[in-house]
Amino acid sequence: MTKPARITIPTEPIGSIPRPVDLIARVAERDSDDPSLAPLYEAAIRDTIERFEATGSPVVTDGEQKKRRGFADYCVHGLPNTAPDGFMIPFADGHTRRLSRLTRGPFRYTHYADSYLDVAMRYAHVPVKQAVIAPSALSLMYPAETIRDYSREQFIDDLLREHETEIRRCLKKGAHKVQVDFTEGRLSLKIDPSGHLLHSFIDLNNLSLSRFSPDERSHIGVHTCPGNDLYSTHSADIDYAELLPGLFELKAGNFYIALAGERDRRHVLKVIRTHLKPHHRIFVGVIAPIDPHIETPEEVRDRVLEASEYIPVEQLGTTDDCGFAPFMDNTSTSRDTAFAKIRARVLGTALAETLIGAHS
Ligand SMILES: [Zn+2]
Repeated sequence: MTKPARITIPTEPIGSIPRPVDLIARVAERDSDDPSLAPLYEAAIRDTIERFEATGSPVVTDGEQKKRRGFADYCVHGLPNTAPDGFMIPFADGHTRRLSRLTRGPFRYTHYADSYLDVAMRYAHVPVKQAVIAPSALSLMYPAETIRDYSREQFIDDLLREHETEIRRCLKKGAHKVQVDFTEGRLSLKIDPSGHLLHSFIDLNNLSLSRFSPDERSHIGVHTCPGNDLYSTHSADIDYAELLPGLFELKAGNFYIALAGERDRRHVLKVIRTHLKPHHRIFVGVIAPIDPHIETPEEVRDRVLEASEYIPVEQLGTTDDCGFAPFMDNTSTSRDTAFAKIRARVLGTALAETLIGAHS
């Protein structure tokens, strides 16, 4: 009798881990690029990767310890031709976050994410993934009125070139995956229920993704979520049925979909089953960073088994619904809680893997 092939369900984090509180306090006091902060950043990254690896996570990140301000505009931090009063993200609890606004041309990145990868890979013993921000999010930096001598078309050209450069640099340095953060996808349906804005975002992101080969795209993924900041969301009331058909048109091989915090997971899984494509790997969220409760491995196992009823197991993976602190100053979740949740994801995914393997 031949032994059945071992089932593997890959599991990956999204990205951010809450920064140490002393680092947040020091960054708040001075410019976050102040060279005197370098040892603090370095210590935070080293500690993050050690604790990440201790969870058993087969893929780690640097916890985005050095992404200034957060996941969205780290790449333009310090860019002189910006103002802080850009696009506003409204959260359900009433608080808001703002992106930077471009005041004149040209648009350039000040930081490419591969610089974070350099440091992380010095400390890591397992593969490291890297999250980058989607062009669609940064496109919101261009104001409604045209900037003199710098058209929107010129801006989009510069933006796509910078984004492509960032992904290529991360792939070249050996990122396990490059994950494009696309939280504004679901939010766009709240701003524009017609779906016009969503489809313009998808078209824009595909202009960039189509520059990559199918092999490169198998290392590129897209993350969608309803937002996650200070225990609040920005678009949890938008039905995934409105988003996922368009989302799966993105030319990426991997999708990281927040699911654990959804009110009706089976409804979402049915939508995924209807629209996923054969070359997609779907990493479903089995941990809810927005929920203070630390999931047990058994809860995670059951969520994976549930997902496997809808998604072919060779296309299934697990992840967290979102990062644990997408914005740098967020201390609502402790580092201890974040790593305990990640450990549950790793253990619970392994439990499901064994069960599914035994029945296949
Ligand atoms: Zn997210």
